[in-house]
Amino acid sequence: MKKDAKFATKAIHAGVEPDPATGAIMTPVYQTTTYAQPRPGVHKGYEYSRTQNPTRHALEKNLTSLENAEQGFAFSSGMAAVDACLKLLKPGNEVISTNDLYGGSYRLFTTTYADFGLKFHFANMDSPKSVEALINDQTKMIWLETPTNPLMSVIDILAYADLARKHDLMLVVDNTFASPYLQTPLDLGATIVMHSITKYIAGHSDVVMGFLATNDKDVGERLKFIQKSSGAVPGPQDCFLALRGVKTLHLRMERHCENGAEVAHWLRKHPKVGKVYWPGFEDHPNHEVAKNQMSGFGGMISFTLASDSLEEAFDIVSRLEVFTIAESLGGVESLVGHPASMTHASIPKEEREKTGVTDSLIRLSVGIEHISDLIDDLEKAFAN
Ligand SMILES: *Cc1c(COP(=O)(O)O)cnc(C)c1O
Repeated sequence: MKKDAKFATKAIHAGVEPDPATGAIMTPVYQTTTYAQPRPGVHKGYEYSRTQNPTRHALEKNLTSLENAEQGFAFSSGMAAVDACLKLLKPGNEVISTNDLYGGSYRLFTTTYADFGLKFHFANMDSPKSVEALINDQTKMIWLETPTNPLMSVIDILAYADLARKHDLMLVVDNTFASPYLQTPLDLGATIVMHSITKYIAGHSDVVMGFLATNDKDVGERLKFIQKSSGAVPGPQDCFLALRGVKTLHLRMERHCENGAEVAHWLRKHPKVGKVYWPGFEDHPNHEVAKNQMSGFGGMISFTLASDSLEEAFDIVSRLEVFTIAESLGGVESLVGHPASMTHASIPKEEREKTGVTDSLIRLSVGIEHISDLIDDLEKAFAN
């Protein structure tokens, strides 16, 4: 495939060659642990499936190409990918992270890796200057998530890439909410881009998987070593499903963005709605940054009720029929979540309210159903 192929072409073709044995146009599910060697040590590049598997390789090559990266590695979950990044560090090292952070990442940082001697600072990332004040000799990594969950803040990747370069730090960007279709952090100077493939990339709510990519040769070699040594690799059947899902990522994201915009504007006009968090609004505090680093605003929206009543929030989400109450996001179907009682339930009320996760905050993952059915569903749920 041409090196300068466009996203849609890469999503369909990158990494996918007709099967050398049969010409099968789809990469087969190589459901095998090991590979025959005609003589000891003589093989076709595949020895054991923790280290190499052809179905996984096809997926890795595809996603590596979508992130404009040199090297990429798939993991058995998004959290396994986060875990692999942290294994690049040593006891005593410090990480500066976004404070509005995916709950699973927060838990891994503050329990397992704090026990192993890593130190984490959770900072509001609006001002690189104030983050710079936290950097010392032990600081090795900046961890960004943008847009953030659930409040849809947008962090300036370019500014943090500059800061990371100046202090010789690794910059990791969790790109799960944007997907490579809307944002490619390595192009903006990040060292590593991380994904929960589970969400938009696989896109059909049927696979749990993670991914890391980099253009730093040394970091890539170390991640490859960690992937094979720790062994949190996905199975070939799941890789096949993710590879099938990614072929329509561009089409799905276009529709997620369109539907997201309609829903965000509808919510904003509704008298029962308080704040609406969506980076596409011109008066969103990070709208300019979002416009510069993203090619669309995605399908994730959070909002509060004017009453800020927990009861009313529960009533509204329970009346929705097209939107299903569930954790997770990024699938073709619309989902609705209540962060205070679901994803953020483990954070004390006072703490979560400080960051804006109030009792009535509702998070939507707007799917790709027909927009009029989504709006009707919301209208009915609010009207009752
Ligand atoms: C879901 C998610 C993860 C974790 O991924 P899993 O595949 O569930 O392990 C990490 N970061 C973000 C932003 C996520 O949404």
